[in-house]
Amino acid sequence: MISAARHTLPTHEVHNQPPVRGDCDLWTSDPVLQNVIALAGGRTEPLASYGNILGRRETRDAGMDANRHPPEIRLFDQGGRRLDEVRFHPAYHQMMQISQSAGYASIAWDGQPGGHATHAAMMYLASQVEPGHCCPMTMTYASIPALAANEAIASVWRPKLTARSYDPSTKPIGEKDSATLGMAMTEKQGGSDVRANTTIATRDGDHWRLRGHKWFCSAPMSDGFLTLAQAPGGLTCFLLPRWLEGERNAIHLMRLKDKLGNKSNASSEVEFNDALAYQLGDEGAGVRTIIEMVHHTRLDTAMAPAGLMRAALAEAHHWVAHRSTFQRRLIDQPLMRSVLADLVLDWEGALTLGMRVAQAFDGTTPEDRAFARIAVALAKFLANKRCPVVTVEAMEVLGGMGYVEDTTMPLIYREAPLNGIWEGSGNVICLDILRSLARDPLAAEVLQAELSAAVGTDRGYDAALKEHRDRWPTLPAEAEARWFAERTALLLTASLLLRHAPGAVADGYIATRILGNSGHIPGSVSGLDTEALIQRLSTQ
Ligand SMILES: Cc1cc2nc3c(=O)[nH]c(=O)nc-3n(C[C@H](O)[C@H](O)[C@H](O)COP(=O)(O)OP(=O)(O)OC[C@H]3O[C@@H](n4cnc5c(N)ncnc54)[C@H](O)[C@@H]3O)c2cc1C
Repeated sequence: MISAARHTLPTHEVHNQPPVRGDCDLWTSDPVLQNVIALAGGRTEPLASYGNILGRRETRDAGMDANRHPPEIRLFDQGGRRLDEVRFHPAYHQMMQISQSAGYASIAWDGQPGGHATHAAMMYLASQVEPGHCCPMTMTYASIPALAANEAIASVWRPKLTARSYDPSTKPIGEKDSATLGMAMTEKQGGSDVRANTTIATRDGDHWRLRGHKWFCSAPMSDGFLTLAQAPGGLTCFLLPRWLEGERNAIHLMRLKDKLGNKSNASSEVEFNDALAYQLGDEGAGVRTIIEMVHHTRLDTAMAPAGLMRAALAEAHHWVAHRSTFQRRLIDQPLMRSVLADLVLDWEGALTLGMRVAQAFDGTTPEDRAFARIAVALAKFLANKRCPVVTVEAMEVLGGMGYVEDTTMPLIYREAPLNGIWEGSGNVICLDILRSLARDPLAAEVLQAELSAAVGTDRGYDAALKEHRDRWPTLPAEAEARWFAERTALLLTASLLLRHAPGAVADGYIATRILGNSGHIPGSVSGLDTEALIQRLSTQ
């Protein structure tokens, strides 16, 4: 038992080392999440129980174990027969079991109101404990709208993908109670530009055979994969089942990627050796079909950085509350307060914008859909550019121990850049934003309406919005796309905080992020209401 650890050692007394964090309910200890979930119309009951389970010490230890013992590839059995399997540590399966039973992948599709908002909050909570297992569940969640392109396939797969249970066995889909689905688009010669895919699809009766490779295929133990391949009519979307009736499909694992972080998640390289596939959507309409899946995974890549920032700040807050330097608790040191208060603004901004986007995913009007399309890209871009900065600073708050694997800081730090890279890297997202605004007048209109909604509440915001509109009366050239996206996302966040967050948060955000009354380094601020901002981190 941790509490029974011995303080008095033969050579010295251990003191001024913060206690190991025990159970910490991730729902009750996060009033900011509770506020934005209420605004977005999410469901509190499933989140309360999921946040409670995730925050238990035992679950957080399992999350660490799943990363300390990464998955192993098993290509062949002892007789040289192909297996193409991945073995995971029991802690990984434990995390999957908890999250799948809570409804991470399924709750958005059960027909109840607020499903996407609830799902997005689950993503945010899970990222705080074990981000790696989120990958297969996010892809499973996101595959549902793409599968709708083929009703016959959807009727078989959808009930299994939306079941609230976890079945890791390798069996044909018909023999399983629940299933997961992955995505394999990226090839060696190009990931962002999927039209450069060289995998070939050849018709074989009422299905197809795929031949080629995929350079990244995370979650290779999924029961099926959505993929793209060149058919005679052009790039087409396909579903590849991992298991056929009676035999494994010819999806050969080549190796697992040796990654910076995201260790618990098995990201692989695969080859399709005339693997059997079913067509989804029209021949030649591959991008249009799979983009439905990409759109939904982007929601999760916008929420994950908010969760990572929250996890890093919760650790930092616990540390400063229990550690003293120079005869004073760190949490009472004015400069430390400036650092923490400044970081809170990034986290609360990302969480608030992310949940507003999730609310739009739940909406049914053309305006909701248009807002979701444009705002998910803005949220993904901004949150992921801030996440590594915030996690690095939070790590430094712990001093030397922040760099040590006994704490969760290294895990969070290694994860921080990832959601900015996959599902559209920064530049690609910014160019997508320009394309969406150019092609979709309704997206531009709803975005402007959301920005205008806060006009009249703060003179600084009003002036900044006017300056933004004056600078870019039309869309910028490609070379300025990042500046435009950053500014738009910051203003959108400010607009939401002005309407829905306490004055200390909105005022602080506008002073530092919109009006530039700060340096470029976190904590280079003055005049923030540090008491109120640090209070936002109130953990148990
Ligand atoms: C851990 C991990 C897991 C992954 N899992 C999967 C998976 O399961 N399935 C899957 O399909 N993929 C997966 N990916 C791949 C990921 O989606 C791609 O790596 C990503 O889309 C970028 O593609 P790329 O690596 O080919 O880079 P490139 O497309 O070569 O891009 C390189 C850089 O150039 C920039 N760029 C591209 N076009 C332009 C332009 N026009 N102007 C300016 N800059 C530009 C990009 O923003 C990027 O920064 C995974 C990646 C990682 C790291």
